[in-house]
Amino acid sequence: MITKSLFYDHTVFSFEIFPPKRTAPINTVYHTLESLRELCPDFISVTYGAGGSAINSATLQIATDINQKYGVESVAHLPCLYLSRKQAVQRVKELTESGIENILALRGDAVPNKRPLRDFAHASDLIAFLKGFDKFHIMAACYPEVHPEAPDMDTDIQHLKEKTDAGASHLISQLFLDNSCFYTFLQKVRADGITVPVEAGIMPVINKKQIQHMVSLCGASLPEKFRTMMDRYEDNPEAMRDAGIAYAVDQIVDLIAHGVDGIHLYTMNNPLVAHKIHEATKTLFQH
Ligand code: FAD
Repeated sequence: MITKSLFYDHTVFSFEIFPPKRTAPINTVYHTLESLRELCPDFISVTYGAGGSAINSATLQIATDINQKYGVESVAHLPCLYLSRKQAVQRVKELTESGIENILALRGDAVPNKRPLRDFAHASDLIAFLKGFDKFHIMAACYPEVHPEAPDMDTDIQHLKEKTDAGASHLISQLFLDNSCFYTFLQKVRADGITVPVEAGIMPVINKKQIQHMVSLCGASLPEKFRTMMDRYEDNPEAMRDAGIAYAVDQIVDLIAHGVDGIHLYTMNNPLVAHKIHEATKTLFQH
């Protein structure tokens, strides 16, 4: 199980992967994992398809294998918007039986034409529920540029505090491309009495379509330096990839220099990119 001590002697380095699309065989993700494990991450988290009402068995299976086959700590994401209390009890049973001890507890996003169940209206409700079992390391999401539905940062951070008060002991941030947003956010988080570790979510942007999609979903602001880079290299995929990696490396160097608790790399299941970033930054993670 992930514990507080993970953060004591180094900057945490973790990865996020997603289960392959329904149309692709699950094995494709195992090639990714073979490669990612060589980088000795502190943990690998596995996303859970938004709106899934039946157990997303791929998430459970992959998280179990990360632990058992690859010997790496795993984190299962668990959104709750479409989860009934009865199903939640079942999830806990399945997770426990699979030996999964770390959960990223999320609300998730509503799917068009599918009414949320409201048994767990907010992530904090799920966190309180999971805390009752007293056997999980519970993590939660946070938003350096404010969650799109929140009226302002202060309100969003009040709700974040509800998550840590309910039992989340580790936060992972939404991706951002401007480190100053993260530093401003972190200052407010600490001022509001949230003391748990906060990992910075970094997504290496290796093509323009990817960032347009992500920005439309999460609203991350695009710094001038980043936009210039995209405009210059968008028609040259190799140069775009190298520039995207260099940009992420630059962010990570700056974050670690500022004493960030951890870097959570949104790998997009691309181990080559993770290797390049690791190669360029690996000595920085030791305190
Ligand atoms: P919450 O913490 O519930 O917050 C959602 C909104 O409600 C915020 O605006 C908040 O300010 C507000 N709020 C919270 N509590 C209250 C309250 N008591 N009263 C009024 N308003 C309140 N989605 C997936 O479907 N699957 C995944 O695997 C996944 N992984 C993610 C991993 C990370 C690191 C991040 C940052 C996001 C991930 N998401 C995932 C997306 C996430 O589900 C969405 O961003 C979702 O919109 C919010 O989830 P949350 O857990 O932050 O929600």
